Amino acid sequence: MSFAKSGLMPALLDNLERLNYTVPTPVQQQAITPILMGKDILAAAQTGTGKTAAFTLPTLQLLLTEGVKVTSNCVRALVLVPTRELAEQVHESMRMYLGDLPLRTAVAYGGVSINPQMMNLRRGVDILVATPGRLLDLYQQNALRFNQMQLLILDEADRMLDLGFAEELNALFALMPRQRQTLLFSATFSGPIRTLAGKLLNDPVRVDVTPKHSAAETVKQHLIVVDKKSKTDLLLHLIASREWGQVLVFVRTRKGAEYLSKKLLAAGVSADAIHGDKTQPARIKALQDFKLGRIQILVATDVAARGLDIEQLPHVVNFDLPTIAQDYVHRVGRTGRAGLTGEAISLVSADEIDELIAIEELLGINIRRMDEPDFYAEHRLPETVLGLGSVRKPKKPKKNKAASAGQIHLGDILSADAPPKVVAIRQVPRLAVPTRHKPKPSDAKPR
Ligand code: AMP
Repeated sequence: MSFAKSGLMPALLDNLERLNYTVPTPVQQQAITPILMGKDILAAAQTGTGKTAAFTLPTLQLLLTEGVKVTSNCVRALVLVPTRELAEQVHESMRMYLGDLPLRTAVAYGGVSINPQMMNLRRGVDILVATPGRLLDLYQQNALRFNQMQLLILDEADRMLDLGFAEELNALFALMPRQRQTLLFSATFSGPIRTLAGKLLNDPVRVDVTPKHSAAETVKQHLIVVDKKSKTDLLLHLIASREWGQVLVFVRTRKGAEYLSKKLLAAGVSADAIHGDKTQPARIKALQDFKLGRIQILVATDVAARGLDIEQLPHVVNFDLPTIAQDYVHRVGRTGRAGLTGEAISLVSADEIDELIAIEELLGINIRRMDEPDFYAEHRLPETVLGLGSVRKPKKPKKNKAASAGQIHLGDILSADAPPKVVAIRQVPRLAVPTRHKPKPSDAKPR
């Protein structure tokens, strides 16, 4: 289906033509027409799928063609997002799709002065993009009223719940008019998201463009096992030996982000960090510098990096694995965007085995292991097997008839590109290491 057939008005089609958007992405194909028809939407779509245009374009059209003129301190459509960066990014995209068309838009998030945001709202805005906490503050300070609200959009709803915004969201929903159109976008449909959807949506059209929990299919994922102390040297080696251009590097902590960006700078690589301890202007500057190619490496924590849209980013490095497995999916979603291929490499040390198991179980695949010859780890990372967690490979497995008769061996499965099947793997430890069960005293029947 083309954009023209989706029902979008000529003025918006002109803007899309100027942006060189010729073909709608799957989420745009499925969502635009029902939204224009006034339907509620429940969409599973990851970042990078074109979801922002999918909800923004029809929203702009509905606001341009229907409803009343916005009055003082009112909003007609509200986009709720989890982070400041995503708020900026959605607002920026919205301005791009809107072009010169006459709608007032604004963005509001915490960590910066509330006064300019209150001033912006005085004349009323047609679309406000906001994070939940700041939105509630604005309401409590009488800067905002919801009585003209036609549309509510929740973007990255799963992330809003992960970040602990449930309370703020519930308080906000209680203030909003029940008669409205609601669009819920989420990378995953977890239990809490389904509950939220049940509460907020009225007979929604379901849109599902991503398999559950998968990282974008256009992303090649690998891991390199490395000792913790060698991670910085390995990263520098990868950047130089593979002649990488710009790379987004994820770390777990704010301190870690600062430390690594300083180490990279000291090694002569242009880098900056983006994390929650930095002021908003410093975060925006680091992101702008990266987008404009002034720095080569951006080191980011999960929360700060949420929603970053950096075009054509070919490489993402997980310097540390995230403690929340779902964050791995979000991190990897920074590359391979809008149909381009990308590569995500995780530098994994032995102490990160639990995080690795959780990620692989979530994805339903074993991440392929690669060796980097000068960086063999002294502390080996146990092999992982889906459904079984980690298993230590026997040092020197004795040959047995079954194994040599061509039956599956653990090593073969783990080095295969295709995701292993759980059923086959469950048999492996028994094949490779035949053990006989000796009853322990505790197994004995009570006397
Ligand atoms: P999103 O998932 O909304 O963050 O979008 C990911 C990227 O895809 C953004 O850089 C958009 O500008 C781009 N994009 C979205 N829709 C299209 C389209 N139909 N054609 C080309 N690029 C698109």
